[in-house]
Order: sequence, then structure tokens, then C-alpha cells
Amino acid sequence: MSLDAQWALRWIELAAADVAQQRDYLVDLDRAIGDGDHGENMDRGFTAAVEALREAQPGSVAEALKTVAKTLMSTVGGAAGPLYGTAFLRASKAAGDGELDGAGVAAVIAGALEGIRARGKAVTGEKTMVDAWTPALEAARAAAEAGSDGAAVLEAAATAAEAGAAATEPLRATKGRASYLGERSIGHLDPGAVSTSLILRAAARAAGEAGAA
Ligand code: ADP
Ligand code: MG
Repeated sequence: MSLDAQWALRWIELAAADVAQQRDYLVDLDRAIGDGDHGENMDRGFTAAVEALREAQPGSVAEALKTVAKTLMSTVGGAAGPLYGTAFLRASKAAGDGELDGAGVAAVIAGALEGIRARGKAVTGEKTMVDAWTPALEAARAAAEAGSDGAAVLEAAATAAEAGAAATEPLRATKGRASYLGERSIGHLDPGAVSTSLILRAAARAAGEAGAA
């Protein structure tokens, strides 16, 4: 499938379904090093984002991502709400007018990471969602430069985000609520890095599905 507004809707539908399915898992992850609300926050936000997209019927990827941004900003709450809201807002700005090609996907992911970093001031290694988005962007850029299409770039990004999320386990948190635990944050996955990997995997699946259509 071409990466157009329909793809964006399908992406958020799949992401919402995955987040709903993994809600208790995300709650458990956040209970271990935070306050246990991440699964609930994300489920509420992505459910609302699907509804908002169906209502708004955006005509472009950029418009769709803007609708998602506004919805997440007003429904997710916690630290993750403003972070994901800003990510989708910057991603929307980076998306341009038309459909996304490989370089377009890399630009969108770069926008998302920039937004998260501007908002949360975290760098890699602090055990946050930045540790999933950063390798995702590196992989996306490498794939785009090698000439991959949008779907293949998303595939590379999702795989790198999953590895990045897994690699948060031995880290000590130095940003966000988990940082209050100091050394005791070691040995747990970061919930936001895990939700990031779910979201990027959903984007890749939506692109693959569409390719078969
Ligand atoms: P809260 O911590 O307010 O309860 P959530 O539980 O919804 O919010 O989200 C927690 C996640 O937010 C963390 O797992 C981490 O990935 C992310 N996070 C927290 N602070 C930051 C930050 N400064 N920069 C990037 N990500 C952050
Ligand atoms: Mg929390």
C-alpha cells in the first residue's frame, strides 16, 4: 500500500488494537518502575485517536498525524501524553503534502524523535522511549539511503525499536518517574520504549497489509 491517509488510519487502528491487547503488560511494566498507568493511558489515547481519525477523515498523512497528536495530547495524560503528542505533531510537520516514500518515513520518524527530545530533554541511555526511537531512526535512515521503499523502511525501524526497547532492561533510569527508583530501576523494561516498539511495528504491519491489497 502507498503510505497515504488510509495507511495512517490503518496504522493507528492496528496500534490501538495492539496497545489494547498489551494493556495489562504495559501496566505491569509501569507498575515495576513507575505508577502503573501507562497501559491505561495509552489504551485510552489510541482508542480516542482511532475515533478522531474516523470522524475527521483526513486527506493526507500530515493531517492524520496532526489529528492523532491533538487527540493523544488531550487524552493520554502522564508524561507519555505530551511526549507522544509532540512526537506526532512534529511527525505531521515532517510528513509534507503527499504520500511517504522511504525518505519520507525516515523524516517522519526524525520529526517524532525531535519532538520527544525537545519535550522531555532525554538522551539515549536514560531508559526512556528515546532508547527505542533513536535506533529506529538510525535504521530508518540507513534503509532509506539504501533505496528501500516506505514499507521496508518501517520494517527496519520497527525491528530496531524492538531491540532498543529490549536493551532498556539493564539501564538505570535517569529521566521520568522511574528515575526516582535509582538503582532499583535496573532489570526492568521501560514501558514507553515498549509502547514505542508496538506503535512502530503497527506502522510496518499497516504498510505490509496495504502492499498485499
Ligand atoms: P507517567 O510517568 O507520568 O506515569 P506514563 O507512565 O504514561 O507517564 O509514561 C512513562 C513513560 O514515559 C516512560 O516509560 C518513559 O518511556 C517516558 N518518559 C518519561 N519521561 C521521559 C522523558 N523526559 N523523555 C522521554 N521519555 C520519557
Ligand atoms: Mg506511569
